[in-house]
Amino acid sequence: MAEIKKIGFIGTGIMGAAMVEHFLDANFQVSVYNRTKSKAEKLIERGAIWCETAGLCAKNQDVVMTMVGYPKDVEQIYFADDGILNSASAGTFLVDMTTSSHELAEKIFAAAQEKNLHALDAPVTGGDIGAKNATLTILVGGAEIDFEILKPVFEVVGKKIIYLGAAGAGQKTKACNQIAVAGALAGACEALAYAKIFNLDVEKVFDAISSGAAGSFQMSSVVKKGLDGDFSPGFMLKHLAKDLSIAANSLNQNNENLQILDEILSELKSMENGGHGAEGTQALLKFYHVV
Ligand code: NAP
Repeated sequence: MAEIKKIGFIGTGIMGAAMVEHFLDANFQVSVYNRTKSKAEKLIERGAIWCETAGLCAKNQDVVMTMVGYPKDVEQIYFADDGILNSASAGTFLVDMTTSSHELAEKIFAAAQEKNLHALDAPVTGGDIGAKNATLTILVGGAEIDFEILKPVFEVVGKKIIYLGAAGAGQKTKACNQIAVAGALAGACEALAYAKIFNLDVEKVFDAISSGAAGSFQMSSVVKKGLDGDFSPGFMLKHLAKDLSIAANSLNQNNENLQILDEILSELKSMENGGHGAEGTQALLKFYHVV
C-alpha cells in the first residue's frame, strides 16, 4: 500500500474546517470543497486546494473524507452523476464522518465495493472542541483491514479511534452516543426547570449539583454556556434533532421505539420549528423556560 498523502475533504463547516487545519499541519496535500466557498477561504489561504465540485475534489486522491450536514447531503455528494463514487479512482478510501444513517453507510459500502473503492463510516464524538484540539473519538465501521490502513490518518484528528464492526456499525454506535447525549442534556434542563418552578436561584443550584453525581459534560459545558447567555453553536440544535430522527426511524423500521428519545426529539423539533435550529443545543433551556 502506497503512503497516504492526498486527502479530498468535502464539508468545511464547524467540524470539517478544524479537521482540515490539522491535516494541513501534518503536511497532507488537502483539496477542499464546500457548498458555500467562503467557509473554505481560511483553509485555502493556508494552502488547501479549492475544487469547484464534490466530484473534482474526489478525483486522484488517496482518501476522500466527507463531513457534511444531513444524510440527504451525503446521498447527494456520493451518488450524484458527478459525485464521489463516479469520480474517485479505484483503490481510493472513502470515509464519511458525517453523523448519518447506518442504512446509508451500508448502501455506500456496497456501491463502493462494486467500483473497487474502500468505504468506511467514521462519525465522531467530542464536539467542536474535540475537532479544534484533535481529540475526537472516531467510531469506525467497514472492513477492518481498511480501518488498520487509515488509523494513522484518523490519529491526526482523533485521540480514541475504535473499530466497531461491519459497514454501518460506526453510525449505529454514534446513534447510541446521541441518545445518551440527549438524555443528559434534557435531564440537566429539567433539573434547572424544577429549580425555577420552586423559586430557587438557578445559578446556585447549578453550582450545587453540577460537580456531584448529577454532573456531566452536557451540564457543565453545554448547559453552562446557555446559562451564561451564549447560544452560539458548538453543536447545532437542528443537528441533534436530525440525529435523534435517524435513530427513531431505524428503530421504527424494526418495530421498536425508545420513549425518552421520542420525547426529546419532539422537544427539539418544536424548538427547531420555533426558529432555534441554528443555535447550540443549549437552547433546549429555552424550551424549559429556564432562560
Ligand atoms: P456545519 O457547520 O453545518 O458543516 C457542514 C458543512 O457541510 C457546511 O459547511 C455545509 O455547507 C457543507 N455541506 C452540506 N451539504 C453539502 C453538500 N451537498 N455539498 C458540499 N458541502 C455541503 O455542521 P458541523 O457542526 O460541522 O457538523 C457536520 C456533521 O458532523 C453533522 O452531521 C453533525 O451532526 C456532525 N457532528 C457535529 C458535531 C459538532 O459538535 N458540531 C459533533 C459531532 C458530529 P453550507 O455551509 O453551504 O451549508
